[in-house]
Amino acid sequence: MALPPLAGRVTFDADDGFYAELKRRVRVELLESGRPALGGLSMALKTGTILIWLVTSYALLVFSDASWWQASLLAVSLALAVAGTGFAIQHDANHGAYPGNAAVNRFMGFTLDLLGASSYLWHWKHNIFHHTYTNIEGADHDLNAKPFGRLAPDQARYGGHRFQHIYMWALYGFMLPKWHLVDDFQNALEARIDDNRIPRPRGGDLVQLLVGKAVFLAWALVIPMFFHRWWVVLVFYGSVSFLVGLLLAVVFQLSHCIEEAGFPPQGANVPEGWARHQVHTTVDFARTNRALTWYLGGLNYQVEHHLFPKVCHLNYPRISGIVEDVCTQYGVRYVAHDSMHGALASHWRWLRRMGRV
Ligand SMILES: [Zn+2]
Repeated sequence: MALPPLAGRVTFDADDGFYAELKRRVRVELLESGRPALGGLSMALKTGTILIWLVTSYALLVFSDASWWQASLLAVSLALAVAGTGFAIQHDANHGAYPGNAAVNRFMGFTLDLLGASSYLWHWKHNIFHHTYTNIEGADHDLNAKPFGRLAPDQARYGGHRFQHIYMWALYGFMLPKWHLVDDFQNALEARIDDNRIPRPRGGDLVQLLVGKAVFLAWALVIPMFFHRWWVVLVFYGSVSFLVGLLLAVVFQLSHCIEEAGFPPQGANVPEGWARHQVHTTVDFARTNRALTWYLGGLNYQVEHHLFPKVCHLNYPRISGIVEDVCTQYGVRYVAHDSMHGALASHWRWLRRMGRV
């Protein structure tokens, strides 16, 4: 598939053997070690658990006669379940990493559309622009919080950015309704993401986008209005969206927009192979926290995810030692924060630095 002009201009050096060795070692571990790769049943159980959590939270919130404090707790539960579906189900599926064939992946990837965001546009934003051109300004869509946020050294700095380490946390919360209700439609109509042109959604892709938006608006806003006053629905819709947006943004920022991650200059040839670039621009966190790893769908193993986006996330803890080993062997800097709060503090310091210099 031809790459859009701006992102397409960025080139990487050829692999110096690092990526080939990584792939060889991981292939041996997952396919030839005699211990089968995790997938199928484990992912089915995990998917079922998260979706039951989501549907139960929603049903109790909308259809039961909950008091204000009960409804508030249910809204938090719903937000956590929606974010969990994003982390652990749709993310694998839209990468083609969900166990099963392409049809299973497309079907499970549709969960993203049902939760309000187009999986067609996510494919371009996330799989192509973010995963190929990680932390390269002008190509990686995840760096675009302009004009309020300055996330990379190549972005223009304004006076107000001095306070971004304080106010960006609140803006992350508003990211989701903007993505669902504005950005997706604008991207599809203009056939463009940032300065990069994309093919306009057509046929099945367009139908999926429109059906997803309609179903989302129905369950998130229209159906609840049959059972509750309109302003109560808007308050809960806003609160759940805010919390989901904050969770999604923070988890993705902790792996790339922090002090330890590299930011190659914009538009240049990247003077290293693609796999080295991925490790230099990506950081793991809280790898020993099993509960967090389960909930985040392995996104705390972001280095492993960027190197092997088509491997089901349940296997990231298992291949992490191999990745670290090969990095040491080839002199590639591999960074992992011990805890999530360590990564959060690093993101805060990065925002403060980008606001000042
Ligand atoms: Zn990804």
